[in-house]
Amino acid sequence: MDARCGGRARGFRWGIGLLLLELPLLAGASARTTNFVVEASSTEVARQIAERAEACRRDIAVAWLGQELPNWPRPCPIRVQLTRGEAGGLTSFGFHLGRVTDQSMKVEGRLERILASAIPHEVTHTIFAAYLGGPMPRWADEGASLLSEDERELARHDQIVADLFQRRGEFPLARLFVMEEYPTDLMGFYGQGYSISRFLIEIGGRPRFLRFVRDAQRQDWDAATQAHYSLGDVRELERAWLAWCRVGGRSHASVALALGDQARPTAPADRRSPAP
Ligand SMILES: [Zn+2]
Repeated sequence: MDARCGGRARGFRWGIGLLLLELPLLAGASARTTNFVVEASSTEVARQIAERAEACRRDIAVAWLGQELPNWPRPCPIRVQLTRGEAGGLTSFGFHLGRVTDQSMKVEGRLERILASAIPHEVTHTIFAAYLGGPMPRWADEGASLLSEDERELARHDQIVADLFQRRGEFPLARLFVMEEYPTDLMGFYGQGYSISRFLIEIGGRPRFLRFVRDAQRQDWDAATQAHYSLGDVRELERAWLAWCRVGGRSHASVALALGDQARPTAPADRRSPAP
């Protein structure tokens, strides 16, 4: 499984690489933390990215799972290519018997954008992979990982979602949830995944969102919608999401995962929600 995420457009897995088709092998410096080993053009860059990845791994796991992940048996390699462009990333996974067997990451872009955007995003993919032990549905993997990024990226995706509705480009949720192939309108696809992820997290918190996605893969989306959100089915969920969008759900402030303060929206929302 690959999670492929470009700076201006994002994709993941099974063949859509937008910016990062292949990075050249870097013969630079490296830095190591408990769970990451980073190869970059200088030791200082490698150190900054390794420490950022380690902090994101801890904070994002707590936000989504309520606890930190155990240390990985092998550090996740990260290859870094500094450019003058926007940040992008690619994370690849292997799974076997419900567990991650290998993972690796590549990031590129300006250093400050890598630290603010690409590393939190890519590390979120590793948290989801560890939780599910297998591939996450595309809309959820990408849409929810976007929530780890900084205000600039969230604002950009808010605009993408606004544009999507203006041109009535959204997919019915029943279709979006099971899409395995990327549509032509890739940005709209990511934007809609981001919007519905934000809505579900706002009404139920992050841990519930993950349980919803996990159970939907085991059963079906209607049953998981009933179990976790007390809505009749996916069509009812869709009506609620669209109503939320109409009353200003595009404002991302309420659910943004500002690292260091990430657990704040989760607990109250979980307490309000009726389902376990
Ligand atoms: Zn991604």
